[in-house]
Amino acid sequence: MSAPNSDYDPVQVTPLDADQVAQMVSDALAAFAAAGDLDALKEARLAHTGDRSPLALANREIGALPPQARKEVGQRVGTARRDVAAALAERQAVLEAERDERVLVEEAVDVTLPWDRAPQGARHPLTTIQERVADVFVAMGWEVAEGPEVEAEWLNFDALNIGPDHPARTMQDTFFVENEDSGLVLRTHTSPVQARSMLSRTPPIYVICPGRTFRTDELDATHTPVFSQVEGLAVDEGLTMAHLKGTLDHFASSMFGAGLTTRLRPSYFPFTEPSAEMDLQCFVCRGASVGDPDNPCRTCGSEGWIEWGGCGMVNPRVLIACGIDPDRYTGFAFGMGLERTLMFRHGVEDMRDMVEGDVRFAAAFGMEI
Ligand SMILES: [Zn+2]
Repeated sequence: MSAPNSDYDPVQVTPLDADQVAQMVSDALAAFAAAGDLDALKEARLAHTGDRSPLALANREIGALPPQARKEVGQRVGTARRDVAAALAERQAVLEAERDERVLVEEAVDVTLPWDRAPQGARHPLTTIQERVADVFVAMGWEVAEGPEVEAEWLNFDALNIGPDHPARTMQDTFFVENEDSGLVLRTHTSPVQARSMLSRTPPIYVICPGRTFRTDELDATHTPVFSQVEGLAVDEGLTMAHLKGTLDHFASSMFGAGLTTRLRPSYFPFTEPSAEMDLQCFVCRGASVGDPDNPCRTCGSEGWIEWGGCGMVNPRVLIACGIDPDRYTGFAFGMGLERTLMFRHGVEDMRDMVEGDVRFAAAFGMEI
């Protein structure tokens, strides 16, 4: 017996005439067509093209035929096997396409559904803006100074030229720490840190003092009993309001965009003389909305300017109270609310959002570090 026929099983005699080969092909094609999915097609493939399939067995028979019959039968079986293989490939492609289409529908992911992972926290925007302000000044060589939130009444008022009967003292709506003559208050501004800085340092002094402050306001959209201020103080020889103005221009540009100018309007604070309110050129319309009713600006109310904070030259009486010679040194100081800065910079409209501690509010500002 020839080698290719060595595992021939004589029980399964495979007929090789044309009708029977054609029958094998039509059986295979019918089985492929009937296969409704890829699993069924796999079974049909094994049955009709596998090692024990009629065509495979027929193929194996060829070697045992007399040489003169081999060519014809070989061609017949070869053609049959190619036809079956082609039909199989065609059906396979159709079923795979159907499966892919079904998978796209059944396994589609709705990316708009809320995800179920634990949400990340977020840094509070007041913290990040406070750090950003500090960075601006540290880059200019200033120091960051801090002080206690429960402050000596003397440092909060008296050292800053706000005497016991000074009207500003009642204006400030102070929280006193029990009992009323304890001499302690929740600081009403960050200015006592300036007094502390002058008492503990020798000029030149360049400090920025960010921190929380307290007044007896009710919480509403534009007021909060706890708010954040940042104050700056410079004491050196020969400082003038020009230095103050230049510093504020740089600060404003750093926070709101290049080229913004500031404007000083005469005002009054006990601890500075002269004093001024500091206005910021509207960083949205840059003044273009003034007198143009067709293009109103919500940010500045079409005024072209936004009130940002107070400033002035340090009152010589404050320098004296803090042990600094006013004949040799002058100083300038400025302060503004960080909540207000955040409102301008990010369009936050309700102060309550800033104090309620809802992480959804803070998360909207991203993870700025
Ligand atoms: Zn504007």
